[in-house]
Amino acid sequence: MLKVGVFGVGHLGKFHLNNWKQIPTVELVGFFDPNNEQAAEVEKTYGIKRFLDEAELIAAVDAIDVVTPTHLHFPVCEMAIKMGKHVFVEKPMANTIEEGKKIMNMVKEANVKLQVGHVERFNPAFTALKNETLKPLFIEVHRLAQFNPRGTEVSVILDLMIHDIDIILSIVKSDVKNISASGVAVLTDTPDIANVRIEFNNGCVANLTSSRISMKKMRKIRLFQKDAYIGIDFLEKNTEIIKLKQPDESDAFSFDIETHQGTKTISISNPVVEEGNAILSELSSFVESIEKDEPTVVNEIDGYLAMEVAHQILDKISKSASVVNQSAE
Ligand code: NAD
Repeated sequence: MLKVGVFGVGHLGKFHLNNWKQIPTVELVGFFDPNNEQAAEVEKTYGIKRFLDEAELIAAVDAIDVVTPTHLHFPVCEMAIKMGKHVFVEKPMANTIEEGKKIMNMVKEANVKLQVGHVERFNPAFTALKNETLKPLFIEVHRLAQFNPRGTEVSVILDLMIHDIDIILSIVKSDVKNISASGVAVLTDTPDIANVRIEFNNGCVANLTSSRISMKKMRKIRLFQKDAYIGIDFLEKNTEIIKLKQPDESDAFSFDIETHQGTKTISISNPVVEEGNAILSELSSFVESIEKDEPTVVNEIDGYLAMEVAHQILDKISKSASVVNQSAE
């Protein structure tokens, strides 16, 4: 059995508790949360032991799950890694680039496993594409959410867009060449809505829009590549592929279009999207990596690279905001 301790049992921490309980090879040893009210409710509802000392909980487990507010990811991760424990940490992996670098180095030195909670990698609408060749040249992303004060201690880039940054970096295997970005702080002190263009060395361009002040929710990624369009709806959990029909494709819906290069047959298909719980899948995958001594699916390097792009975007936004302010003076 893998002994697990949870740090932070707020909104997402409670979902994690429910999912840890469903993994047969996990023993949920206890949790740490300084909020007495929250802790009392969790002790009563979940019947899990509350630890009052962080180090005592870490010493009692093989792995910890960090679901604290983002600025506290680093100190908790640091303590656990230095004690030789495996770590599952929510996204973003840390608050600052320096913290992210330190985590990467500590994980390597301590030879422990770390997984970052980039849960969309386990979204069934995305995993349905595991057998497809994804080589996009243009990517259009929309992640829109209604306003909720939870999570607004960080910008929309670190709160929401980082999910899409991680997905895109996992698909486009190329270095970032250039980033342009603009964002506006509408209801909070940091950008609540942003539009970003990321250009990659291989020619791919990704255009991302994230908002946490929208009336409607949307979580869509559209990939355009040679001969194909692939749409992924992370919210509605469906996936669509429209491409030039292959000779061996028999059951796809298809139609002909006339082009200057002659008649082309277009096929439309919807890969099977399994019923699934992405949080359970990501936590189970973390456990399996430890049991089999294999790399985690979203490791500390992935977590760092997503943070690095997110911080470059934030720099661009703050520079463009200061240019706007200067010209207004
Ligand atoms: P929350 O405010 O609801 O919960 C945070 C909890 O951490 C609170 O109960 C608080 O008392 C506790 N806490 C504070 N200091 C602590 C400490 N030193 N040690 C242990 N616990 C401490 O926040 P949330 O919405 O649950 O978010 C938590 C984290 O999860 C954030 O990093 C956020 O970015 C991430 N998150 C990820 C997703 C996702 O889709 N992967 C979704 C929501 C939140």
